[in-house]
Amino acid sequence: MPRGNGAAGANAMKGLEPRALEQGVVPLNAWARLLLELCGDPRTGGGRWAQALQRVRVVRTDTLRLLTTPELDGFLRRVGDATAKLINMENYRRRRQFFEGRGIDCSWMSAWARRKAEYFDIYKLLGSANFHEACRLISDQWKSFLGLLKAAKEGRLEPWQKVRPPGYRKRDGQRVPIVVVRFDNYRIDLERRVIHFGYWNISVPFKGKPRWLAKPGAKQGRLIITYDPVRKRWYARVSVEVALESKLGGGLKAGIDLGRERLIALVTEPLSEKGEGVALLYRGGPLKSDYFYFERKIAEIDRMLSDPKLEEVDRSVLKEIRKRFYEKRKRRRDQVFANAAAHLVRVCLELGVAVLLLGYPRGIAQDKPGKGNSNMWSYRRLEQRIAVAAENRGIPAFEIPEDGTSKTCAKHGCEVQRGPRGLVRCPYGHVMHADVNAALNILKRGGGKVPTRVKVLSFVPTPSGVIAVNKKKSSNPA
Ligand SMILES: [Zn+2]
Repeated sequence: MPRGNGAAGANAMKGLEPRALEQGVVPLNAWARLLLELCGDPRTGGGRWAQALQRVRVVRTDTLRLLTTPELDGFLRRVGDATAKLINMENYRRRRQFFEGRGIDCSWMSAWARRKAEYFDIYKLLGSANFHEACRLISDQWKSFLGLLKAAKEGRLEPWQKVRPPGYRKRDGQRVPIVVVRFDNYRIDLERRVIHFGYWNISVPFKGKPRWLAKPGAKQGRLIITYDPVRKRWYARVSVEVALESKLGGGLKAGIDLGRERLIALVTEPLSEKGEGVALLYRGGPLKSDYFYFERKIAEIDRMLSDPKLEEVDRSVLKEIRKRFYEKRKRRRDQVFANAAAHLVRVCLELGVAVLLLGYPRGIAQDKPGKGNSNMWSYRRLEQRIAVAAENRGIPAFEIPEDGTSKTCAKHGCEVQRGPRGLVRCPYGHVMHADVNAALNILKRGGGKVPTRVKVLSFVPTPSGVIAVNKKKSSNPA
């Protein structure tokens, strides 16, 4: 978790957060947490924010593709398999302890203590630094399991979250390799594009542009190497601690509604004294058609798989192809989210937006279970994408409860009628985009000024980029 600065801030946080949480404002990134500490609730803190340069430290991940030879491949498999074995043995032991009601073992030391006994061969192969880091990885997994159990007890879990004790690195009866390297046991040469591993005295060339490692003052942490069986490649994920800077406060608020008629709808406070704000609409069309395209492909395969006369060889090939479709669909969706989030934050900076308020769509999953973008988990994913993109550019992001925001007129507070083509009709005689209205309501709930007019800009996010729709019109919510 990123650190805030100063003890005074921490005290303020103690007094504020429970109340803020109780009323439903949840900080989504480091800037939002800092803003809560320094200025309190964003809904009332309006113009009183100190405009001082602030700094937070956050942890990011750089992913590098390893360029391996058959020799290197064999080496990574050997070390990766030994580490997977360690994890499986430890998790077996800890799971048994848990299921027999003897408590949860979150410690790294209980695994470390066995290094000269049953784990001796693994210990020798990994070296003491990396063996230690593998023990810490196991301990981290059990700590997060404990955290989830606690959250479940307090009723803080999302409906889609399942709490299970850490399992085994196994797929189809085979161990899934993982290499864990401690921060001080590798060196990354950004110019020669080589990672050197200390204990094994081995150099591995890589491909990919490390975004965070290249930042001044970046501190490398745990490095994890895994194998992607679909792409048949090894990847190293390096966790990196970096400092981000921002001038907090002193800008506009924007309300965001996720995924009703559009993927994202954003509305800003008035840009000028005339009262006109800007609305950004990101359409979900390509994402939906992508989803259904893969859905059809997967259904085709399922049909073929249901044939009892199918040979075992063909069956495993078909399953492999189906797995590829699932992964590709997920990857393309993540690319759409990442592109939309990056674009949105860039436009926000240009418009002078300094705080994002996101309405979280609770209960949409019940509307149309299992259909396209109505998947709860993908909303959370999109929300996180936006929060992180905003964090990278110094903008705090908060989650605001949005119950009923689509049913109420943002202008008059009365109930609206849902009309065709994603429009809502107010009894006072005006018509609005349903999602612009919802975003306006969220802005209002976040203590923002509601613009009298909004200029609507439409975009289509795709896996390869964001396309601006060439239709700029002004609509009047009044
Ligand atoms: Zn109205």
